[in-house]
Amino acid sequence: MRKLEERKIVLASHNEGKLREFSDLMAPFGFEAKSAKELGLPEPDETGTTFEENAYIKAFAAASATGLPALSDDSGLVVDALDGAPGVYTANWAERPDGTRDFGMAMQRTETELQQRGATEPGRRTGRFVAVICLAWPDGEAEYFRGEAEGHLVWPPRGDSGFGYDPVFLPDGHARTFGEMTAEEKHGWKPGQAEALSHRARAFQKFARACLGAA
Ligand code: IMP
Repeated sequence: MRKLEERKIVLASHNEGKLREFSDLMAPFGFEAKSAKELGLPEPDETGTTFEENAYIKAFAAASATGLPALSDDSGLVVDALDGAPGVYTANWAERPDGTRDFGMAMQRTETELQQRGATEPGRRTGRFVAVICLAWPDGEAEYFRGEAEGHLVWPPRGDSGFGYDPVFLPDGHARTFGEMTAEEKHGWKPGQAEALSHRARAFQKFARACLGAA
């Protein structure tokens, strides 16, 4: 696997929540990381139908625009009782007609659809957060790292930490939602530790082991 020799990378995202989490996760590795947002790069249309395709679109757009390796994350919530929805359309469920995003509305839609299917018991409300990290080089080569966090959806939303759908996601084996956890608890990982908790930290852990020489 191609290693990252130079510790200079573009974070191919405009999402503040993801950028915050990436900067935490990257911190121990001494990277010079600039985000696509800081660099004023345009946000490409996510026209793929899989997390991998959309992750590549974002990472390659940033790598080819800057000449640097770029790291992207395409992620979403996959709910079993909703046949995998919202999946790659997780961000779209929050979109208002004026282009702004409202995650209260998106969480409510998820709940309404679960209720319509009679999914009221925790065992019928299972799902997972998925994150696919893509590392793309300006020449088009790319590597993928996938992380998943299993859990179930709670209602009403709990906690105001994190971002997106965090307040309705209760990870397996925990009593608090991602929205009730500190960022450190949600990641659940530092280099050298066994197993991360969040989907993003799990994907990042694979990336760090493959490309950064992390333990
Ligand atoms: P995309 O990867 O830009 O298509 O957007 C993924 C969407 O999934 C985000 O806008 C969030 O709503 C949701 N999402 C992804 N990861 C998380 C997370 O860690 N917590 C809460 N919501 C998330």
